[in-house]
Amino acid sequence: MSLRARLILGYSTLLAAILFLFGASLFFILRYTLTQQIDQALRESTEDILGSMTVRRVEDLKFLNLPPLPFSSSNTYVQVWSADGELLSFSPNMQSVRDPLSPAAVPGQGKGTPISYGPNLEGASATPVYTPLPAEDLRFSDTNIRGLHMRVVTKTIWVEDRLLGLLQVGTPLTVVDRALSILFFELAIGGGSALLLSVLIGNWIALGALRPLESVTATAIQITHADDLSRRIPLEVSASSEVGRLILAFNDTLERLEKLFSAQSRFLADVSHELRTPLTSIRGNVDLIRKMGADSESLESVQSEVDRMSRLVGDLLMLSRVEAGTLPLVKAPVEVDTLLLEVMQQAIGLAQGKIEICIGNLEQASVVGDRDRLKQLLLNLVVNALQYTQPGGRVVLSLRVIDDCVHMTVSDNGPGIPREELPFIFDRFYRVEKSRSRGPLGGSGLGLSIAQWIAHGHDGRIEAASEPGKGTTFSVWLPMGKG
Ligand code: ADP
Repeated sequence: MSLRARLILGYSTLLAAILFLFGASLFFILRYTLTQQIDQALRESTEDILGSMTVRRVEDLKFLNLPPLPFSSSNTYVQVWSADGELLSFSPNMQSVRDPLSPAAVPGQGKGTPISYGPNLEGASATPVYTPLPAEDLRFSDTNIRGLHMRVVTKTIWVEDRLLGLLQVGTPLTVVDRALSILFFELAIGGGSALLLSVLIGNWIALGALRPLESVTATAIQITHADDLSRRIPLEVSASSEVGRLILAFNDTLERLEKLFSAQSRFLADVSHELRTPLTSIRGNVDLIRKMGADSESLESVQSEVDRMSRLVGDLLMLSRVEAGTLPLVKAPVEVDTLLLEVMQQAIGLAQGKIEICIGNLEQASVVGDRDRLKQLLLNLVVNALQYTQPGGRVVLSLRVIDDCVHMTVSDNGPGIPREELPFIFDRFYRVEKSRSRGPLGGSGLGLSIAQWIAHGHDGRIEAASEPGKGTTFSVWLPMGKG
């Protein structure tokens, strides 16, 4: 079932239940209240009638002999029955009716089991008894007399513990029935139309709200079919709405995927290029050795190509372990000033006198970290500096303590990095220009991302500042080791 259908079904069911409960309670409360009012009026009429009754003494008391009832309201129907079910008296408007108002309450008249009112009358006193009517002494019932729906109250008349007869007072329920049926139809029609209207409006709102989702889906499918990650979903709704945020998140994901895929394809091209170049060179040298015999120049060249390939493979291996989360940092106190001097010594060896290496500041400091990885971080920066700086250039290493941080820098006066490339140089496999000379130390765009991973692993950070044509400075910030 679609989301729209589920939404509409859900809230319409809820609305229908609320309307039903509301309507039913309104109906029953009104019916109860009206019935209570009718009952109260009947009770009062009964009291009036009883108050004006006199009972004449009758020898065998087989029937009650009552004077004509004073009651003549056309809306109130009165009957007096003897205890053994004989009609003794009635109001003028009941002249043509000989059936009891409430048959079940009159002995011998009811269709079901007659109600028992106690022993039959035999020789009794004839003093009329009239006491205020307790509620339980009255029996209310709904009946139908010749098609007229009536509310009837039955009251027993007693003379000294003897049942003399029954008084039945009824009133038609026409007004109540009408009011209730009007209410019922109002509720049914009003509730039904409210429900229908809410389904229609809800459907319309849901359609509008979900339309952007459909366009998201359609665009996503198109992107998949066209295999084109450069496409984006147009933001046609407010960016802060749920769908707007979904679109932004989806576009963001697309952008990241696009970057990742293009970085990977660049990387594949780079790696194959990186591997092909040394392999071609090695093959050339091996051919030469075969023909001419081994000479030190060819062997050195083979050696250097093999070194470059091992570095590349080493970087790749490390990166895959970083990604898999299986490269632990073994941390211990490290004197970073000593480490920097070691790196400098190595840099001097790598520079082979072509580039000047010097120390700017060197303060004593230590951090808690993985010595080998920290050395690798600095070496990656120094190797880059040597690699991209022309012979005759200068690389300066420096270490300062600023606040509670160790601040190490590697600066060169090489070609620099264009401003627009700076944000990406730490991305994996990113190289500013593929054609840029790699030199004997060249990498494949992994060095800086490995350096950044190491800095982050030590709760530090790495930054680059560069001015094209003037040089580049890489800064590493690490928190000072305690003690
Ligand atoms: P690579 O192995 O290609 O050097 P890195 O991740 O170490 O890869 O560096 C990413 C890119 O940043 C390099 O391709 C290079 O273009 C640029 N870069 C890094 N260091 C320097 C530097 N000192 N001077 C100029 N460009 C640099």
